[in-house]
This record gives sequence, C-alpha cells and structure tokens, in this order.
Amino acid sequence: MPPTESTSSTPTANPPGSATPAIEFKDVEKRFGKTTVLKDLNFTVAPGERVTLIGPSGSGKTTILRLVMTLEELTGGYIYVDGKPLTHTEKNGKRVELPSKTTRAMTTRIGMVFQQFNLFPNMTVIENIIEAPVHVLGRSKNEAVEEAKSLLEKVGLADKADEHPTRLSGGQQQRVAIARALAMSPEILLLDEVTSALDPELVGDVLEVLRDIAETTDITMLLVTHEMQFAREVSHRVMMFDGGQVLEEGAPDQLFNDPQHERTRSFLSSVQ
Ligand code: ADP
Repeated sequence: MPPTESTSSTPTANPPGSATPAIEFKDVEKRFGKTTVLKDLNFTVAPGERVTLIGPSGSGKTTILRLVMTLEELTGGYIYVDGKPLTHTEKNGKRVELPSKTTRAMTTRIGMVFQQFNLFPNMTVIENIIEAPVHVLGRSKNEAVEEAKSLLEKVGLADKADEHPTRLSGGQQQRVAIARALAMSPEILLLDEVTSALDPELVGDVLEVLRDIAETTDITMLLVTHEMQFAREVSHRVMMFDGGQVLEEGAPDQLFNDPQHERTRSFLSSVQ
C-alpha cells in the first residue's frame, strides 16, 4: 500500500512501518585512498519512506547515494536492500564480497537521477527511456515504448519522445532522466541534487514531477537536495550530516524549526 498522505503540505511523520528496512547501512566505512569519508555509519530507511540528506558540501551525502547504487566500492561494513546484502556479506565472521551478478540483480530495483542528467546524447528521448527495460529487464520493445509514452505524459513531455536530449532544456532533460529511472519500476529512487544544475526558472517543473511521484507512488526515496522547502514538503525524515556522520535527524518540521545543534542551525541559515 502506498504511504497515506495528509492533505497538508507536510507528510505524515510516520511512514509505513515494516520489520525489514528498504535500505540498511551497517558499520559502513568509505575510504578514498587514505581519506576516510564515512566511518561506522549506521542508519535504516523504511519501505516507502522518503529521507532527505542535508549538510555541508563534502560531508559524504553523494557518496552515500553512490554506494547504494554501487557506483562506489564499499571499503568496510555492509549495505542491505530489502534485508539482502548488496555487495558484501558476513560469513563465519568474515566480510565476503558477493558475485557481481548478485549485486547487479539487486541494483535493477534501484534508480538514480543525477545532477547532470547523464542521458545518452546519441539516442532520442524514448530510446533513452526504453534502453534499460529492454536490455536489462528483457521487456518487449512494444511494451517498453507504451510504458515510456505514459511516463513521458506523467513528466509533461509527451511531445518530446523523438527529440534528442541536446535539443531540450536542462529542466526537460532532467524530467526525461526521471522518466528513465521510473521505467525500471524501481523500489528505491536515489535523487542526487537533481535541481542544482538547472536555471532557477526550470527548477519548479522538476520539483513538481517529484512531488507527484512522492504523492502517487510508494517508492522509497533517498535524496540529497539544497531545496529546503521541497525537502520539508516531501520528506518523512531529514538527516543532517557533518563529517560523514549523522549529526541529528528528525521529521522535517522538527529539524527545520527546532534544530538541536549549532552546526545544523548555521547550515540551515546558510541555505534558507
Ligand atoms: P557531499 O555530497 O556531502 O558534498 P561527497 O560525498 O561528494 O560529499 O564527498 C565527500 C568527500 O569525499 C569529499 O571530501 C570529497 O572530496 C571526497 N570524494 C568524493 N568522491 C571522491 C573520489 N572519487 N575520489 C576522492 N575523493 C572523493
């Protein structure tokens, strides 16, 4: 069942409960060479929950999303998706890497949208959207095209199916990227500063599409954004990061109206 939405602009504080988290970070460590970016990081995200990561630049937020998407190698600890290990498991007290096939099968349930859209420039909009459903999920081309058309409708770009991405505005490209992620029917959607590269007048349409997804689906979302009003509207929970650690977390109203840490207060006053 999708999460029940209140009619006010603030989502209900309690997302649908479940014994098995959609995402679990257990003792996660991430090093780049000698630099440790994340250390002993533990948190869970419930199925259907929408969690926004905020915090100063360099605090590790993007790295967290990239680890879930397996675009970065996990150097310590474990990440579980739906209770199943993503890249490493514990066997006889030892940390063991899973076969890449197992990991790849898990990541088909995860979609990611990037700051820089990352569309295939040599393909049309519709070809971008059907690429993975056809080649990764084995859907028939006709079925994938029908689904892609209805997704383009959803993101307000029904008339752009045969355009090349370079002929679209940044906001339109980002909406295609969102449609492309949704075409894989993800259980988890990762959104990494998806409006940061856009001209201010194009941000609203992209946020509107994301609001619609939040209201009409039960997709678990983990997002990094500097759009605090948007975070307040769509998140069940906000986590404030500093130096690779969760400094504090809470329902958006609580965290934004009554932050407990001076560092959260100064961060919020710098972005709001
Ligand atoms: P945020 O998203 O909070 O701005 P990031 O996750 O992008 O933070 O980065 C966290 C830290 O990891 C930064 O110090 C950054 O320089 C470092 N980092 C990120 N990616 C790499 C990389 N590929 N190689 C080396 N250092 C990296």
